[in-house]
Amino acid sequence: MNTPVYLDFQATTPVDPRVLEAILPYFTEVFGNAASRNHPFGWDAEKAVDNARAQCAALIGAHEKEIVFTSGSTEAINLALKGVAEMYGSKGKHIITSMSEHKAVLDVAKHLEKEGFEVTYLTPDKLGRHSVEQIEAAMRDDTILVAIMWANNEIGTIQSIAEIGKLCKERKVLFMCDGTQAAGKIPVNVDEAGVDLMCASGHKMYGPKGVGFLYVRRKNPRVRLVAQMDGGGHERGMRSGTLNVPGIVGLGAAADVALKDLEKDAKHSLQLRERFEARVFKALDQVFINGDKDNRLPGCSNLSFAYVEGESLIMGIPELAVSSGSACTSASLEPSHVLQSMGVGDELAHSSIRFGFGRLTTEEETDYAADQIIRAVIKLRELSPLYEMALEGIDLSQVNWTGH
Ligand code: PLP
Repeated sequence: MNTPVYLDFQATTPVDPRVLEAILPYFTEVFGNAASRNHPFGWDAEKAVDNARAQCAALIGAHEKEIVFTSGSTEAINLALKGVAEMYGSKGKHIITSMSEHKAVLDVAKHLEKEGFEVTYLTPDKLGRHSVEQIEAAMRDDTILVAIMWANNEIGTIQSIAEIGKLCKERKVLFMCDGTQAAGKIPVNVDEAGVDLMCASGHKMYGPKGVGFLYVRRKNPRVRLVAQMDGGGHERGMRSGTLNVPGIVGLGAAADVALKDLEKDAKHSLQLRERFEARVFKALDQVFINGDKDNRLPGCSNLSFAYVEGESLIMGIPELAVSSGSACTSASLEPSHVLQSMGVGDELAHSSIRFGFGRLTTEEETDYAADQIIRAVIKLRELSPLYEMALEGIDLSQVNWTGH
């Protein structure tokens, strides 16, 4: 077994060998510009792009004409939110989103606020969920867009997307869904879910980095966007710029593999996550699962370890590549905005770690990871006067270990 053990599959994934094999000819042999209409080099590249478009569409139950290739989800989100705001801004200036969205959504929302839009940031419940009633209550006559993600990148909570989609249809409000963590991991069907716009990213599904797509609904309703990138009018005018043919071929191949292996991959990740959590919970008390225990991404386990200090915890597991519940902004460590929005106390948020299990993770790695974290937590708790006090039954309600 190689160390460090990679358990950060929500951050990024390696390129699957089947995907790499599909990409390689497009760097050298088939190098044409997909927009070159006058010769076979261009036609071959265009054919490959069309094929990838169909593969991406198939993954999410869309039509290939509804796929706009981008440099990834961040760009797709920018295009969706700003594109809708500019196109429909005369109809209304109100947008609804969640405090637990990815920064790619939150930062665009902040940008739109500066442009005169009003944004309602909904607070999720303790499990990271939003009810349809909550979203409905926030709707106004001038609401033009709801942006709620399919599955959260930190805690893995899966939202009731189809119910939200239905509400948005009834109220004639567009529904944008960040599908970055869901596409290729759990079944996604934009029609069944009533989603009007959705982004996905290659590097989250064993494809290359720097490529992704935006799904833009063509019928019921036909969604129109103001382009954010002007140039040669590529992607039906929605995203100008020479297409990244090898990247797009890789994205298509990754979507194809993910669709075929969806059940197998999900079962594998889930089995490892359950194995890991069972081992950790057997050895340690005062450990909490963040997110919706019963409805989260199969490969995502976000745990809070009470009575240990976050930074020391991360330093105590150098052989594990994981993400912590703290984000480093400038010099200070900020607790995760997602955990904070769910009401998890700062101390507990700092002592949270996201373990991500993926296609390549083995049982051996899973057991090793569990043993490493158990060892580190026991060692740190031995040094913790608070943990000793808790064991003695002393009331520690003044300490901010709240949220569960
Ligand atoms: N949205 C979510 C939920 C993500 O997890 C990420 C990746 O970190 C993004 C958006 C941004 O994706 P990209 O890296 O393709 O820009």
